[in-house]
Amino acid sequence: MLDERLIDVARAAKGFMPDDEGRALHDAAVEAARRAGGPFVEIGSYCGKSGVYLGAAAREADTVLFTVDHHRGSEENQSGWEHHDRELVDPTTGRMDTLPHFRRTIEAAGLEDVVVAVVGSSVPVARAWATPVGFLFIDGGHALDVAMADYEHWSRWVKPGGTLAIHDVFERESDGGQAPFEVWQRAVRDGFEPIGRTGSLRILRRTA
Ligand code: SAH
Ligand code: MG
Repeated sequence: MLDERLIDVARAAKGFMPDDEGRALHDAAVEAARRAGGPFVEIGSYCGKSGVYLGAAAREADTVLFTVDHHRGSEENQSGWEHHDRELVDPTTGRMDTLPHFRRTIEAAGLEDVVVAVVGSSVPVARAWATPVGFLFIDGGHALDVAMADYEHWSRWVKPGGTLAIHDVFERESDGGQAPFEVWQRAVRDGFEPIGRTGSLRILRRTA
């Protein structure tokens, strides 16, 4: 269950997932599992904030969440960029490393048995992937080529009746980067049916 304790763990984690969007993400995943089963895949683990919501959903649905990230940060997380956080730099190497933070979040949430970290780049992992998924959440790099590559390589694994969720979708350029919105438009053109939105989170269903 997504109880207050778990929400507190999610709140304490670094990341980019407001409470209401996290709850909507959780509810969409539970519903997707009811319709299409599991497992769940997330692209973009970062420090595990969204992973708490999806991990709680995985526990409820008796499935698992695979969450893919190289843990080196997106372009926009690097030093000098808007979303850089110096606390996420490994002092030994000077490079970003969110994996220890991710592990602590999932441990604090008590979700280690249902959240599986896949540490690597999205596209190479996708090339070796062979499992249909009930729920896919795309929240990785937000450069257009990166976001579109995530969609192209992963959306094929969404089962009929399964759900695709995309984060940071802004229709207006003044509200944010346009790549996730372009991915959302592409998904709609490809036949995914929009079924919900909360903040910048968009939920779509594969109808056939
Ligand atoms: N879902 C998280 C936030 C993800 S931030 C939350 O809501 O809390 C985006 C993440 O995508 C970063 O951690 C970054 O390392 C990862 N990322 C960016 N490009 C990637 C790629 N090509 N492969 C794997 N991970 C990538
Ligand atoms: Mg996001």
